[in-house]
Amino acid sequence: MVDLLPEVTGLWQHVEATAREHFRRAAVAEIRTPLLEVTELFARGIGEATDVVGKEMYTFLDRGERSCTLRPEGTASVVRAVIQHGLLSQGPQRLWYGGPMFRYERPQAGRQRQFHQIGLELLGFADARSDVEAIAIAWDLLADLGVGGLALELNTLGSPDDRVRYRSELVAWLEAHREQLDPDSLARIATNPLRVLDSKVPETQTLLAGAPTLADALSGESHERFAAVRLGLEALGIPFQLNPRLVRGLDYYSHTAFEITSSQLGAQATVCGGGRYDGLVQQLGGPDTPAIGWALGMERLVLLLSQADRPSVAAATPDLYVVSRGEAGEAAALPLARQCRAAGLAVELDASGAAFGKQFKRADRSGARFAAVIGDAEAGEGVVVLKDLRGERPEQRLACAELAATVLQALVGPLS
Ligand code: ATP
Ligand code: MG
Repeated sequence: MVDLLPEVTGLWQHVEATAREHFRRAAVAEIRTPLLEVTELFARGIGEATDVVGKEMYTFLDRGERSCTLRPEGTASVVRAVIQHGLLSQGPQRLWYGGPMFRYERPQAGRQRQFHQIGLELLGFADARSDVEAIAIAWDLLADLGVGGLALELNTLGSPDDRVRYRSELVAWLEAHREQLDPDSLARIATNPLRVLDSKVPETQTLLAGAPTLADALSGESHERFAAVRLGLEALGIPFQLNPRLVRGLDYYSHTAFEITSSQLGAQATVCGGGRYDGLVQQLGGPDTPAIGWALGMERLVLLLSQADRPSVAAATPDLYVVSRGEAGEAAALPLARQCRAAGLAVELDASGAAFGKQFKRADRSGARFAAVIGDAEAGEGVVVLKDLRGERPEQRLACAELAATVLQALVGPLS
């Protein structure tokens, strides 16, 4: 688990603010759920046969002997909340969430045990256009942030009926090739055969080139739906590659599945993953509700942005640094700083009581454009000396009451 230090939080805030703005423009509302849920929710909502539930969860008994789990992802919690509060009776829901998720994985670049996601869930939308809209929201956000080397990979899992048919074809084929499969894939034949397609073992991937494909098992209706999604993306000018190996192995996933990857990330290339989960709301005890969503990994996104050659996002650089000296000067400094803060300026107050020279050095180091200097003489007259630390404006002696307005004007107005 990782601390986010001040040198990076500026970039995090920039990403979060950009995401917030994109959701606002798309009329998507935020939902916040607890970090802790009963374990049962994830067992049912993600599936016992998945890696996440099988070996990655932080699960423990609380003092009331209930099995609790730190959320490993956001969708199950959002669906639980939507059902619990009857939100679907008010109509379809357009929701986003953000925050920490927890998975007991082997930590490496772009993979942590506490990581952060931002996610979108569109609940109560069945049309292929909602798939296109969901993908477009992710794509536009990443493009707006300036993420390079993006690729959208797209697949369809068909309807549950298609998949039942395909599943038995695939299982028969895998059984016939048992001796060539790796141990993980062998174990999955019984638990989660579709997940074998997703194997990271190169020999297995080569072997799978000869396996039956889901595309061949799709019904006409599923074909048409997938064609509509592709046409919609083409109409928006969003490029994509078909990837028949892209699967989400759970029964309630259906139709569209997608990932957005970046060539600028190493092994952990997927920034955003999502798909349609028409069966999940019902699976968790709610009304039969079609839905599509995605989740985006913040660490990988921030990694990409910090690698890119882009202007750094300032963390907390002050506009004004207040230097004071002497009893009356020091007493006047905090009210002055407070006044300027109330006017909207970022103000750092030097409370060290050190010599002027030392305070000025710190003022320079702070990155502030201006310093306000107040000694006993100035305090007695109710004035302050304003210094441009870049030396572009002459030093100015002005009434304390005028300081904030003068600095604000100087920061936004033309240089005089
Ligand atoms: P992966 O195959 O990389 O493990 P996943 O299929 O487990 O990904 P999802 O559950 O779809 O990932 O989560 C969506 C996104 O969250 C991922 O694409 C990734 O960007 C991010 N993510 C997932 N697990 C982690 C982790 N342990 N650390 C950092 N980011 C993660
Ligand atoms: Mg994973």
